[in-house]
Amino acid sequence: MFSAFKRKHPKIFWLITILTVLLPTITLSLFFFVKDEYSRIFISDIVSPLFDLIAMSALIFAAKQSNRISKRLAFGWSMLAVALFSFALGDIFWAFIELYLKETPFPSIADGPYLLFYPLFMAGILILPSKLLSSTEWIKRTLDLSIVLIAATLGLWIFLIGPIVGTELTALSLEIVLTAAYPVGDLILFFAVLIIIYDRSKTINPGPILLLASGLIVMIVTDIIFSYQSSLGTYLSGGVLDLGWIVTNILITFSGIYQGITSETHKGNNSLSNKNPATINKGISQVLAYMPYIWVAGVYYLLPRYHHSEDAINSDVLFIGVGCILGLVIIRQIIVLNENNHLLSNLMTALEKGNLHVSELNKANLNLQQEIIKRNKVEEQLSHDALHDGLTGLANRVLFMDRLEHAVEITKRESKFHYSILFMDIDNFKSINDGLGHSSGDQALIEIARRLTSCTRSIDTVARFGGDEFIILLEHTLGKNTAIEVADRLSAEIHQSFIYNGKEILVTCSIGIVLDISEYSNSEEILRDVDIALYRAKEKGKSQYEIFDPEMRKLAISRLELEGDLRYSVSKGELFLVYQPIFSLEENHIEGVEALIRWRHPLRGLVMPSEFISFAEESGFIIQIGDWVLHEACSQLRKWHTEYPDLEYLTVNVNISGKQIKQKDFVDKVKNILQVTGLNPKRLILEITESTFIESQSTIDELLSDLRKIGVAFAIDDFGTGYSSLGYLKNFSVDTIKIDKSFIDGIVEDKKGFEIVKTIIQMTQEMGIKTVAEGIENSEQLQNLRSLMCNFGQGYFLSKPVEVEQFEIILKNTGNEN
Ligand code: C2E
Ligand code: MG
Ligand code: MG
Repeated sequence: MFSAFKRKHPKIFWLITILTVLLPTITLSLFFFVKDEYSRIFISDIVSPLFDLIAMSALIFAAKQSNRISKRLAFGWSMLAVALFSFALGDIFWAFIELYLKETPFPSIADGPYLLFYPLFMAGILILPSKLLSSTEWIKRTLDLSIVLIAATLGLWIFLIGPIVGTELTALSLEIVLTAAYPVGDLILFFAVLIIIYDRSKTINPGPILLLASGLIVMIVTDIIFSYQSSLGTYLSGGVLDLGWIVTNILITFSGIYQGITSETHKGNNSLSNKNPATINKGISQVLAYMPYIWVAGVYYLLPRYHHSEDAINSDVLFIGVGCILGLVIIRQIIVLNENNHLLSNLMTALEKGNLHVSELNKANLNLQQEIIKRNKVEEQLSHDALHDGLTGLANRVLFMDRLEHAVEITKRESKFHYSILFMDIDNFKSINDGLGHSSGDQALIEIARRLTSCTRSIDTVARFGGDEFIILLEHTLGKNTAIEVADRLSAEIHQSFIYNGKEILVTCSIGIVLDISEYSNSEEILRDVDIALYRAKEKGKSQYEIFDPEMRKLAISRLELEGDLRYSVSKGELFLVYQPIFSLEENHIEGVEALIRWRHPLRGLVMPSEFISFAEESGFIIQIGDWVLHEACSQLRKWHTEYPDLEYLTVNVNISGKQIKQKDFVDKVKNILQVTGLNPKRLILEITESTFIESQSTIDELLSDLRKIGVAFAIDDFGTGYSSLGYLKNFSVDTIKIDKSFIDGIVEDKKGFEIVKTIIQMTQEMGIKTVAEGIENSEQLQNLRSLMCNFGQGYFLSKPVEVEQFEIILKNTGNEN
């Protein structure tokens, strides 16, 4: 604080230091060393107003600086400076009278400004900002001050004023009045000190104000001694007592400077407390609380001593004073008691409120805990949902992939245990959904999930991967065979039918297996291979499992390449048709021909339809191929009709895929091709496999009637493989059915097989539908079919599918052209 002021105003700092340290030192030294009485009076008379003026300047400085904090504070300090000025005026008059006029200055004109000093100073103290008090506090404070003041007045009266005026009440001289007036002034100062001590506001820095108070105390003591000595006539001007006023001035000077400096360093900050004012204030407050009682005790001491005094005025004053003090103390006690009662009741209410709060808090805490439990449950549910399949409750793809990656990491470090993957797909799941409804499909999936879980251990992970795809991670299996055993168990379990809504649901599944994941570096590769194995299992004819081997990967890759090449096969002219004759078994001539596609691949050579039709269907490329086939077959037959007019009855069977039928403009396409090629529509037979027939019954119905109108006929291909009853044939006007080769294979050795074919032929013929036997490979089969009155026959025994030129030779050899 001082160093900050020093830095900012170095010149003022040093001037103040010199004035406040040097001047008192010189004066004190003079007082000690100069023994001559007149010289001492001279020094005292000159020095005293000088000190008054220095103190006044310090107070002006304080006032100026305080203006930054509060106007009232500045005004208070200014009033104190005015008081000091008045005192200085008194000192100047005194010096003038004593030194110049060589007269005794008491009583004199100097007493005027001297006595004015007291009310002015009191006014300054009252102007300084004071504490804001509640009404009770104010009453208490006033009572305290009154007690102290009355006690002090009593003391002063008994010791000083009483003795001065008491005996000579009748003959009061100006000198006596003035002598008594100074102690009264001191009482005013004492009151000021009390106000300073009791009534300090936060805006007032305690340091300077306490210095001011100590200056006043020194002044009061000096004044009392002065009055006492004056009453006895022993006071000597320029004596040691004069030092009292000088010390007073020095303390006031310090107070003013201190106030000025602290106001400078604390500008903008209203709280001007020192380093630890709180502790100082607390200490002072504790002492102040006992102050009235100390004074009461003091007065009580006076009571027995002076009430027997001969001086009647003292005795009366004493009794009145003590009475007043006791009355005030009693009032104060009553107030304190009331206050205590009030505090106690407040405390009780606060405690009750506190208890209420505690119970409310407990309740809130309980609610909070319940809320936390609820939230934890929701969080658990959410994280469970994020990792599990909603329908079956099995792990989902995310969780499975995480477990698989974890397993891959373990196998890199440990080779003791095996980890295997089973990838499962439900065969023909679509037909369950379409045929029995989605809720049956869902129920089937839930049931399958349950069965899968029951067939595996808890450490294995069973996950639903997609619609009807499930995947299983078998952990810590003891050997590669474990996975195969599990696959067998799963298949057996899944194949068992279950009842839903009174309907029996039968499902089969295909499974791809990767026996050991330790050969893989990441989970994606494992998934790719197990998917290849599953594809192979499906390709091999459903309801099977297939174990992955690296050859399969090669095949899959080559298949992919083939798929790519197929896109350009039509435009590059790599596709061609072969023709297999269909013989009339009754009349022994070629009734028609089936067009079968072939692909002459530039690198692989001849590629059969079984190798590319399925993925041409998957990619949708079959549409383009199918259009080409239909056009090629129709134009070829038209050519033959033109070249061999006698063979105008010859028909052509063209295989149509399910995807082709679903085209909206399929009928238009057929009509257009017939128109362009000029083929008689009655010579075209469209072959649709039985499974396609069942799958898209509604579309086919419309299609059949549209094309039938122009004479196009229909045949159901691979009849018997669609696991369907013969009954559905009644619903469609089909011209021909082609009994699948698998039935023809059995008609010679297997009696039951023979009976089945016999039934098929009899029943279809009863419905007016013609029958073609596919895949006749020997004469016995042909013989049997003839005996069963089968209408037509097709097979290697009769003729393999051949190219155009060869077919024309066959036509000639069989004598059809005639
Ligand atoms: P599919 O329509 O049932 O055709 C008969 C298949 O049986 C032909 O096979 C034929 O070569 C074969 N086959 C005929 N007689 C015998 C026999 O005595 N023994 C044996 N083992 N097989 C015989 P291919 O030509 O390989 O055709 C296979 C399948 O590919 C066809 O079965 C048909 O579903 C499909 N396909 C062929 N060409 C086309 C086409 O242009 N479009 C469509 N969508 N599918 C076609
Ligand atoms: Mg066919
Ligand atoms: Mg067939």
